[in-house]
This record gives sequence, structure tokens and C-alpha cells, in this order.
Amino acid sequence: MSKIRKTIKILSGKPVVEGAGVNLRRVFGFNEPGMFDPFLLLDDFRSDHPEDYIKGFPWHPHRGIETITYILAGKVEHQDSLGNKGVIGPGDVQWMTAGSGIIHQEMPEGDKNGHMHGFQLWANLPASNKMMGPRYREFSAGEIPELSMGNGARIRVVSGKVQGTAGPVNDVVIDPEFLDVSLPAGTEWSHPVKKGNTVFAYVIEGTGFFGEDRDQPVKNGTLVLFDDGELFKAVADNSRFRFLLLAGKPLKEPVAWGGPIVMNTREELKTAFEEFNNGTFIK
Ligand code: MN
Repeated sequence: MSKIRKTIKILSGKPVVEGAGVNLRRVFGFNEPGMFDPFLLLDDFRSDHPEDYIKGFPWHPHRGIETITYILAGKVEHQDSLGNKGVIGPGDVQWMTAGSGIIHQEMPEGDKNGHMHGFQLWANLPASNKMMGPRYREFSAGEIPELSMGNGARIRVVSGKVQGTAGPVNDVVIDPEFLDVSLPAGTEWSHPVKKGNTVFAYVIEGTGFFGEDRDQPVKNGTLVLFDDGELFKAVADNSRFRFLLLAGKPLKEPVAWGGPIVMNTREELKTAFEEFNNGTFIK
């Protein structure tokens, strides 16, 4: 029988100011090193007030990681040193592999009611891929398959596979799964996950339960990290329950973290910042 994963950690994040003055909620990051390996950081920038996000994230570098931006409302305009330029909107995803180095800017813009709902996840790259060529992938809402289950559940597959349907983001070293799962009140959903992979869920609407635990419903804005096992299970409480489900293969490597650049050693970090300062950062 497959072991159902149990909750081992619950986090609700902290308000931080990032970029040129964006007020967002950091669900996890620098203060939780290794706990979410291969993931490094998750930011929730949902706001109904343009002053919270309009200043955006002007030109800044990244090296050694991937940044994954997922939008539910509003849009984010992106430009980078590879010459990519695009706007992602509701339901779209941008999967940016910084690799050896990219310099980009990300500028949020609310919808006509001032709503901006988005998330940015950072995935680490293993030592062998930190200096790979950068790449930029963008998928519009229509390119991301959405499965409708018999019980009314809807599952958007950004990366990974659900009942034979694969998401458009593939060929990623950490073998990630990125699902947007929406369950009607009172329904449940189980999903096989790889033993040994890190699995967590971030609630973005309603309340519900994970695993077999029915003590306390988990609410919007809560992140739940699970122990090991082969099966993930979620149950909606008395309203629609929506969450992002993330899974990935842990790298188990040393992490040297310098803001937007994440390497394995302090020496590599020093080199990266020297290169950024003397104009040789972009390979
Ligand atoms: Mn960035």
C-alpha cells in the first residue's frame, strides 16, 4: 500500500519589500535553507492595491537558479539580456533558467480593478548545471492543459504529469511537478508522487486538509511541507479549495546564497559579483 504523505511543517510567510519597493509575502526563502531543496524561495505577490507592486523589479541579475512566475490576475512585463521581451497574464507561466547569467526586469501591472495576483518560485540548479546557457520559456494559459475530473476538480498541469497528461515545461534537471489544483467543496483528490522528492502545497483559495489529518483546516496563504511517501492527498473543506502543488528532486548540495545569485561556494559567489561589477557577467 502506498504511504500517504503527512504534514511536517506549516508556514504562512512574512511581509517583505523587494525590487524597487514591492510589498509582497515571502512564504519561504533565505531563512529556511535546505528545507525545501531543490526549491529556494516562494513569493506571493497578490494585492488589490497598485502602490504595493507598481514599482516592480527593475534590471537585476540572476545566476545558478531558475525563476518560475505564475500569474492569476494582472500581468507582468518581462525583458532580459537575451533579448526576450514578453507580457504574461492570467493563467500564463514563465520558466526562466538563469544558468550562467541573465539580467532582466519584471514589471507588474494590475488589471482594470487594480488586482495583481502572482507567484514567483525559485528552483535551484545543481552544480553541474549552474553555468548552463540561460533559457527563457513562456507558456500562455491556453498551452497549459487543464484536466476536469468527474467530481468537479480542475487541475492545470504546468509541469509534470497527471493521468497521462503532461505539462508544457519539461526537460528540467530537478524533475519538477507544478500543478494548480482546484477542488469543489467536500471533494478529495489523490495523486502519486515520487518517493524521495520534496513535496509541498501552497493554498491560494478556500480551506481544506492534506493527508489523513482532519484536525485543523489549512487556509489561503498557508504552505504545507510533507514527509516522504508515494501518495499525496487533499480534501476540500466546505468551500472550493485551491492550491499549488510542487514537487522536485532534492539536490543535497551546499548552497551559497547571495541575493539573486545562488551558487555552491562563497568563491563562486564572489566571482559572480566581480563579473557583474566589471561587465563580464553575461556569457
Ligand atoms: Mn528576477
